[in-house]
Amino acid sequence: MDPMTEEDIERRPPPPELANLPDNFWDGARVVYPPGKSALSIPALQSVLLLVPTMMNSLLLRSLALSALAVTVATALTTGLTAELAAAQSSPPVLASQVQLRFDTTEAAVALGIVEWHKDKNALTDDDWRKLFKSDGYQRLRQREIEAEHAFPDSVFQAFLLSDSLGKRAVALRTTLEKYKRADIRGAGAKALAYLPENARVAASVYLVLKPAPSSFVYDLQRDPSIVMYLDTKQTAAQFENTIAHELHHIGFSTIGTRADSMVGSLSINARIAADWTRAFGEGFAMLAAAGGPNVHPHAVSSAADRARWDRDLTHFNRDLKRIEEFFLGVIDGKLASPDAIGGAANEFYGVEGPWYTVGWKMATTIEKKFGRKEVIECMIDPHRLLEQYNAAAAAYNKANPAAALALWSPVLVKALKRPGT
Ligand SMILES: [Zn+2]
Repeated sequence: MDPMTEEDIERRPPPPELANLPDNFWDGARVVYPPGKSALSIPALQSVLLLVPTMMNSLLLRSLALSALAVTVATALTTGLTAELAAAQSSPPVLASQVQLRFDTTEAAVALGIVEWHKDKNALTDDDWRKLFKSDGYQRLRQREIEAEHAFPDSVFQAFLLSDSLGKRAVALRTTLEKYKRADIRGAGAKALAYLPENARVAASVYLVLKPAPSSFVYDLQRDPSIVMYLDTKQTAAQFENTIAHELHHIGFSTIGTRADSMVGSLSINARIAADWTRAFGEGFAMLAAAGGPNVHPHAVSSAADRARWDRDLTHFNRDLKRIEEFFLGVIDGKLASPDAIGGAANEFYGVEGPWYTVGWKMATTIEKKFGRKEVIECMIDPHRLLEQYNAAAAAYNKANPAAALALWSPVLVKALKRPGT
C-alpha cells in the first residue's frame, strides 16, 4: 500500500465520504418520522446506558503508550459510572423506557492507535486493521456509503490513517479523544428529553470516529438511530455535548411525528403541507433544548464567531418571520404547488442556522418565558397552537417593550392552520 498524504487523497476522485459534506448535512434527518425503536434493547443503568468500549486489544497492548491508555480508560469506566450514579440522584427523574443511549468511541480509539503505532515506526498487521474494520463506528460509516451506492474502499481509509499529515496531528487528536471520552452523553439526553412530550423516545447510538471528511451526521433514524461525530480537534467538550443534545432532540422529536400528524389530519391538503413544514422549527426547539433553557444563550459554549453570527441573525427576526409567513401562505393558497417549489423555498430557511433555527428558537423562548415549559412542549406538536401561543406571548412582550416589538403571525395564517371544531 502506498501511503498518501491528505493532499493526495484530496486530488483523487474521492468516494463521497472523503468529500466535504455540506454544513447542513445533519438536517437531512429531520423530516423522517421513524417508529419507536425496538432493535436496541440494552439493559439500562439508571435511565441511560453509557458504554465505554473495551480497549484491551492486542494492538493497544503492544504499545507502552497505549497500554497506559487502556488503564486510563478502565479508570474512566469506573469513575464514569460513579459520576453517572451521582448525576442520576440529582437530575430530574427520567423514564428508563424513554432514553436509551450508547456511546461508542471504539473506532476513534483503534484508528488513533494505528496512527500512533505507525508514527512510531512500528509495523501493522492484518489483525490490527481487522479491529478497525470490525468496529461498529467503522461499519456505520461503510454502511451509509454503500447504501448511497458510493465506493468505500478500506485501502483509502488505510492510506488516510497512514498519511504523514495525520501523523502530525496525532497528539492533538489524542487530547481530543481523551476529552470527548468523558463527555456527558447522559446529560445531553436529559437536556433533549426535558423539551419533549412524555410519549417521545430518545434512543440512539453516538459514535465517535476518526475519518477523512471533517463532517458529522445523523444516520439510519428508522432502524438504528446513530449520531456519528468525527474527532474534531477544534471543538470543546461542551460544544460536543451541545451538538449531541441538539441531535438527540431531533431524534426524540421525530418519534412523535404520528401524534403531530393526527393533530393536523383534518386540515385541507395545502394547510396540512404548511403545518407539516412547521416541524422545521424543530431546529429552533433543538437549539433551546441543547442550551437548557430560554435564558441560556444557545451559543453560550460556541466560538465567538458563531455567537456573533447568531446575534446578528436575530436582529432581523421580524423580517425572517414574515418571510416564513409568506412561504406558508404561498403553500396554503397554492402559489407554491409542486413539491420541488415548496422544498426549494423551505430549504432557503436552513442555511448555516437560518430562520428555521432563529425564528423557531425565538418563538419557543418567547412562549416559554410567558407560559412555561409545559406549554412550549405542547406547542411543538401542535402547529396552530404554536403560532397562536407565540402571538399571545409576543403581544404581551410588545406591550411591555414597545421599542423592541416582535412581529406577529398574521391572523389569516393562524386561522388557516386551525383545525375545524377547535
Ligand atoms: Zn438541527
